[in-house]
Amino acid sequence: MSDQTNEHPDDASAGKATMEKITSLAKRRGFVFQSSEIYGGQNGAWDYGPLGVELKNRLAGAWWKEMTQLNDNVVGLDAAILMHPRTWEASGHVENFTDPLVDCKKCKARFRADQIPAENLSAKKCPDCGGELTDTRKFNLMFRTHIGPAEDSASEIYLRPETAQGIFVNYKNVIQSSRMKIPFGIAQIGKAFRNEIVTKNFIFRTCEFEQMEMQFFVKPGTDEEWFDEWRKRRWAYYEKLGIRMDRLRWHQHGKDELAHYAKDAYDIEYLFPMGWRELEGVHNRSDYDLGRHGQYSGKDMQYIDQENNTERYIPYIIETSAGLTRALLMLLCDAYGEEKVADKGNDDDWRTVLRFHPAIAPVTVAVLPLMKKDGLAELAQDIRRELKEDFATDYDQAGAIGRRYRRQDEAGTPFCVTVDYESKENGTVTLRFRDSMEQVRVNRAELIDRIRKEIKEYKRAN
Ligand code: ATP
Repeated sequence: MSDQTNEHPDDASAGKATMEKITSLAKRRGFVFQSSEIYGGQNGAWDYGPLGVELKNRLAGAWWKEMTQLNDNVVGLDAAILMHPRTWEASGHVENFTDPLVDCKKCKARFRADQIPAENLSAKKCPDCGGELTDTRKFNLMFRTHIGPAEDSASEIYLRPETAQGIFVNYKNVIQSSRMKIPFGIAQIGKAFRNEIVTKNFIFRTCEFEQMEMQFFVKPGTDEEWFDEWRKRRWAYYEKLGIRMDRLRWHQHGKDELAHYAKDAYDIEYLFPMGWRELEGVHNRSDYDLGRHGQYSGKDMQYIDQENNTERYIPYIIETSAGLTRALLMLLCDAYGEEKVADKGNDDDWRTVLRFHPAIAPVTVAVLPLMKKDGLAELAQDIRRELKEDFATDYDQAGAIGRRYRRQDEAGTPFCVTVDYESKENGTVTLRFRDSMEQVRVNRAELIDRIRKEIKEYKRAN
């Protein structure tokens, strides 16, 4: 394990999160690795290391709890990645899920035509080398493959570019099996694949990623009310996660941005180091999805309202669509801090700290014996055994205690328990808080309850 303590970032970015620092920390500490790195890496794909997978699972867990456990009328689903190809005709993806693409004939760079300056596009001039650009052509973002041994058009199948369609096609199954009545929602977390032309900014835009989507089925006419309600709930969720709310904003889609199916759409944007970017979309999808699936499958997708004289209608859908892997990047950026550790009396002592909410931090408690000798290591191991059932723990006995605190700060561990000679004598330990670096003495017997309480009452101070 590398130990980047006493780092003195004396450049212009001192104290600030940059994408370079986040990427390097993520690799160094085992949050995110480049896919197939030993072969030179695979563009658009990333692997989540020991800390990364814990963080991702906890973030997914927090969303799942928020959606299903805390909403009586939202249930979960886990649909297959491979779906009947007609799904994507009905959804409009075969026809419309395209990006405009241009290539430079000289340097071979590839661009999304909507992401280069308009002057370059009209003059057909490469923004990188000044070479001549090709005409703009439409490029479908869906990954295509074949199922079965024959590679012909009949065996063609897509990797899903979003999780939403798995929900739409199962809406009747869920009603029939779970006795759900409108209004109700279906939540799903899973992988999605898009053949993105430009993948940059680390895990922000990748070809393989994970989504957390919830589709809420409502009676037409009540859709605007539910749209506002879900906007409120999604905003409150980020507040609860402890995100810096001054780094979040709403962006309403203008007429030219609205998807063909959408009646209204807002994005929640986060101020990433590279600027404001979409984190999550809240969309009023009207009755487009179920209407189209009804048309393409020949099945009746109408809802029958038993409580209202068997009134029939195609429900409207309010969608909340977030990227799990993009949210993980947001968390890393939001939690990142560098500060001078003044209390050490050493001006050059800096610490890097990830201020994750304790409920989603990859490691909740680290147990550290002050010394390896005199039975302190054994006592610390014993305390760790006790904490394990309730919390994700780590144990570290290597190096000076200050350095070990820094290592935990950098991994985002909110609590350290230090075992010293006094612990042997009177059964107390030191509980150290990541954010304030304060330490208090706590009876070993009260440790679990105290940590639980600290997690529940956590408020981020800076
Ligand atoms: P963009 O305009 O950025 O391509 P989008 O508007 O097409 O995104 P949606 O289809 O609404 O995105 O997807 C919902 C969410 O899924 C996004 O808000 C984002 O968090 C996530 N997402 C979409 N594409 C990617 C990707 N290529 N990599 C990582 N996350 C993604």
